[in-house]
Amino acid sequence: ELAKAGWLLNVQLLTFGEKIGEGEFGDVLKGSYMGQPVAIKNIKCDVTAKNFLAETTTMTQLKHKNLVNLLGVVLNNGLYLVMELMSKGNLVNYLRSRGRSSVLPWQLLQFSLNIAQGMEYLEEKRLVHRDLAARNILVSENDEAKISDFGLSKSKLLPEDVTKLPIKWTAPEALQHNKFSSRSDVWSFGILLWEIFSYGRTPYPKMSVRDVAEKVQNGYRMDAPENCQPVLYTLMKSCWEDDPGKRPSFKKLREKLEKIKTA
Ligand code: ATP
Repeated sequence: ELAKAGWLLNVQLLTFGEKIGEGEFGDVLKGSYMGQPVAIKNIKCDVTAKNFLAETTTMTQLKHKNLVNLLGVVLNNGLYLVMELMSKGNLVNYLRSRGRSSVLPWQLLQFSLNIAQGMEYLEEKRLVHRDLAARNILVSENDEAKISDFGLSKSKLLPEDVTKLPIKWTAPEALQHNKFSSRSDVWSFGILLWEIFSYGRTPYPKMSVRDVAEKVQNGYRMDAPENCQPVLYTLMKSCWEDDPGKRPSFKKLREKLEKIKTA
């Protein structure tokens, strides 16, 4: 099916380079495909590969400047996903390693806007990410933020896998009643904004995952990151409304971030 659509790549045109990351299911390598720099994700386990292949079909139908683009797949002793190379790695490491002295607030705002634009596209397509977090945002050579792991998260986070949910990023109604929606992604986006404006800190610092779930359910919310504009903290808190219907949509969030950026 994928072959018909032209997503099956020729392994002979693919060259493998150094290891640049480690995923849950295998290593991520740098490489090139017909001269173009790429990232190659190898999925070794056969069962997992089958699941990924199914999800890849969703990925091939999505194309946006703020989603990490899938170029195709190679089937050869397991599965290789060939993606555009995001040379500056994931956003957590990017922010932690560079810090306040080299990443300016306008750049943080630009990242936030990039992600909101990508999420607005997924929202329009009625696709729920379920694992939106700074670790799943990758940065390109020219400092553009793009969402990765979309379309893959569904197969990983089966309803019965409650223990594997990223508790600190997951909306209360999703944790308690498995109600995942674009509005539960909005909750996660609020946490992601907090991560960005605190330069890659882990959310709910010093709190255990167990405590977080209980306290958040009782109305507890994180304080504003250090030196964060009040308008941005207000935006974060709107993402953390108990009632999913009261949270803004990604369209609304994108509009607000554009306004803040030009203010
Ligand atoms: P999964 O759970 O889907 O296996 P993961 O979170 O375990 O995902 P990834 O996030 O996909 O693994 O990859 C691990 C690391 O590899 C990332 O944090 C990033 O540093 C690097 N990486 C992944 N994809 C790319 C890419 N397209 N370009 C550059 N680096 C990448």
